[in-house]
Amino acid sequence: RSVKSYTHQDNDDPLTFEINCSLVLLPKEPMQPRYFDERVGFFTSNYTDFDMNPQGIKTIRMIARWRLEPKPEDLEKYKSGELVEPAKPIIFYIDPTTPKEWVPYLIQGVNDWQPVFEKAGFKNAIYALEAPSPEEDPSWSLEDARNSAIVYKPSTIANASGPHVSDPRSGEIIESHINWYHNVMSLVHNWYFVQCSPVDPQARSMTFPSELMGQLVRFVSSHEVGHTLGLRHNFGATSYYTTEQLRNPEFLRTNGHTTSIMDYSRFNFVVQPEDNVPRDLLFPRLSHYDFWAIEWGYRRFYQFADADQEIPYLNQWVIEKTKNPYLKFNGGSESGLNDPRAQSEDLGDNQMETCELGIRNLKVIMQNLPEWTKVPNENYKGLSTLYPQITSQFNRYIGHVSKWVAGVYTDAKTVEQDGPIYVNVSKNKQKEAMAFLERHIFTAPLWLLPDYLSELLPSSRLAIMENLQSSAIKGLVNENVLVRMLRAEEQLGPGTYKPEEFFMDMNRSVFGNYGQTDIYRRSLQNIYVNTLCKMIEPEEQPSGSAAPVAMMRRMSASIENNDVKALVAAELESIAKKLKRGRGDDRTRAHYNYLIKTIEEL
Ligand SMILES: [Zn+2]
Repeated sequence: RSVKSYTHQDNDDPLTFEINCSLVLLPKEPMQPRYFDERVGFFTSNYTDFDMNPQGIKTIRMIARWRLEPKPEDLEKYKSGELVEPAKPIIFYIDPTTPKEWVPYLIQGVNDWQPVFEKAGFKNAIYALEAPSPEEDPSWSLEDARNSAIVYKPSTIANASGPHVSDPRSGEIIESHINWYHNVMSLVHNWYFVQCSPVDPQARSMTFPSELMGQLVRFVSSHEVGHTLGLRHNFGATSYYTTEQLRNPEFLRTNGHTTSIMDYSRFNFVVQPEDNVPRDLLFPRLSHYDFWAIEWGYRRFYQFADADQEIPYLNQWVIEKTKNPYLKFNGGSESGLNDPRAQSEDLGDNQMETCELGIRNLKVIMQNLPEWTKVPNENYKGLSTLYPQITSQFNRYIGHVSKWVAGVYTDAKTVEQDGPIYVNVSKNKQKEAMAFLERHIFTAPLWLLPDYLSELLPSSRLAIMENLQSSAIKGLVNENVLVRMLRAEEQLGPGTYKPEEFFMDMNRSVFGNYGQTDIYRRSLQNIYVNTLCKMIEPEEQPSGSAAPVAMMRRMSASIENNDVKALVAAELESIAKKLKRGRGDDRTRAHYNYLIKTIEEL
């Protein structure tokens, strides 16, 4: 421990920190590693091995996992399939400064993993303990790197994270300090409110009963602990259940609403009030994939002398197991893919159906929002906090559906597995997505703009709608989507969803029959035409301003030498031609004339 003082670079204020530094001797014998397999989502430790003398270079990727081994006296029992306690269990201490109210739930979130490790042959493999008091153990310290802990951060940050430190030689996880920021409670409050309040009356308030918030804390704890066990996000885990299953209490009781807690699965927004699904089935919990992933990562195979010899056996095991889709891993957006099944915060195998039901729930909330966010003797802060949460949730639904257009399913495989890795989403599914978007966003969702919005909040209804429609159009009409359509067409020939048909659908959704318009329709048409124009003549980026990484990845496809610009130009020409025949009042005519001018001056 040392105390350091610095001077703040901006205002010369003195700043003093107490800094703790732990040096931990790594084990003499490195743990036997398990090599990474992209079909099971683990974090890794990597190195390049020149001693192996490969012809070229070979990156060795070992999964991050704790060293769970049977005690020497239990080894034979373990080999014969008996459950045994590990020599060194995984223990998480709860930071003693954590508000007492939440401690039992944080502990529960850790202990929820116990039955999961039984699949790998270990009982009591993981648990949480309250930190010992100074009287009980004067040498215990939260900062000591030998203790893993859930650290309480009295902070406005609305998040939590589960990092770990690994032995670089083997991937062995040495310790973990989970960050649990106090304000993560506002995050889960807002999600649960916008996703489940039509179904759960206790969610209709700005402060939840302690027991309900406790369950939400438990879910966050479980998810973060999952990261510290080595597990990555499995964004595909919410893509296997049908809409019907997601509304069926029996099914949910057995399977949960996601095959893994490691998705960003949030709460079951598909359930409708008439489904009579009890509250405990609305929270994400550990399920099929979590059990399998831990078994794959942590089961010891003593019949093999080392990690290399396990490889063929493990490959066959994964091939067999992942014939069950509930056991599949799909990292999705984290790996920059275009698979609509691997999205965060989505639900179900058909998002056109599940988002429809999610929107139905949002409409109920909108009608009741002023009432449900009321806090006696306070102003409308609750309303102003929750309203943007509703538009964000709606925006997510639109995003989930958009991803189906020009989507590409991706299933990682080894050469022993049949079938393609990349498969284009069928034309029917893409048309279904376009129909959804026409219904819910290109037809202005005016239910999102009730009168109380202009009366009680400073926001502009026009700006809100413009933002929503603009983000929908930009997510759909862009270089990447069009280039993927060209690729699918080149690969599969006619019968794919071609750019021409896509523009026809967009054109109908945005302009209808080129008749009378209202203020929202005109804004939508401006957005569409401007977006197309920018694809032909992109705005100059001011030098030195780097586009955000996400933006660059989304817009990375080049359109300089393919058909895209010609197709966009043809669409603009066709719009201009039809606008000239358009009919409407003076405002509509002025608007049409301006659009014609914009296109012709391009
Ligand atoms: Zn996470």
